[in-house]
Amino acid sequence: MRLILLGPPGAGKGTQSHFIKERYNIPQISTGDMLRQAVQDDTEIGRKAKFIMETGGLVPDDVIIELVQERIHKTDCEHGFLLDGFPRTLAQAKALSLTNISFDHVIEIDLDDEIIVKRLSGRWVHPASGRSYHVENNPPRKPFKDDFTGEPLVQRDDDQEVTIRKRLSVYRTQTQPVASYYLSMAAADKTNTLKFFKIDGSQPPLVIFEKIAQELE
Ligand code: AMP
Repeated sequence: MRLILLGPPGAGKGTQSHFIKERYNIPQISTGDMLRQAVQDDTEIGRKAKFIMETGGLVPDDVIIELVQERIHKTDCEHGFLLDGFPRTLAQAKALSLTNISFDHVIEIDLDDEIIVKRLSGRWVHPASGRSYHVENNPPRKPFKDDFTGEPLVQRDDDQEVTIRKRLSVYRTQTQPVASYYLSMAAADKTNTLKFFKIDGSQPPLVIFEKIAQELE
C-alpha cells in the first residue's frame, strides 16, 4: 500500500498518519518530522531549513526531493509507505512521478482556514515527550505545564498566528495544485490503480479514520 496524504497544516494529517501507520503497518514518512529532526541535530539541511520553517515558507524542492528519494528507497518501504507532508509543490509531485513508484491512494483532508488558525494557535507542546495540548480542547491540568513532568509547555514557532496564516497561504497557492494534479491523474487512470479521495477534516479524528479505512479496504 502506497499512500499520499495531503492537507493544510492543522487539518489532522499527523493524527491520521499515525492511525494509518498503526493499522496497516507501513512506515510514515513525514518531511516535517524529518526536517525538525535535522534542525535538532544541527545538520547542514537542518541549518538551511530552520529559518524557512520558523517563518512558514517551504524548504527548496531539491533539498526535499533528495531527502525523500533517499528515505523511500530504504528497505522498510519495500511493502509500502505513507507520505505525509510531501509532495507540497508541483515540482515535488513531478519529481515523484519520475521515480516510477506507483501509488494506490491520494487522500486529501481539507478544513476551513479559520478553524485551522484556531486549532493551531491554541496548541502547546512538551518538547521532551512531544505531548501536545490545546488551550480549549485539551488543556493541561496546570496552565502551560506538562501533566506528567510539570515542565513548561512551549508553542512551536510555526504555530504562532502570523506564521500559520503564511503557511495556509503557501498551502493554498503551492500545494492545492498538487491535489488537482493527482485528481486529474486518478481520473485519467483507466486501470483504476490510483484512487483520489477528499475528506472533511472537521469531523472527529476516529470518524475520519474509519472513512479513510473504508476507502482503503
Ligand atoms: P509540517 O510539519 O509538515 O507542517 O512541516 C513543517 C515545515 O517543514 C513546513 O512549514 C515547511 O517549512 C517544511 N516542509 C515540510 N515538508 C515540506 C515539503 N515537502 N516541501 C517544502 N517544505 C517542507
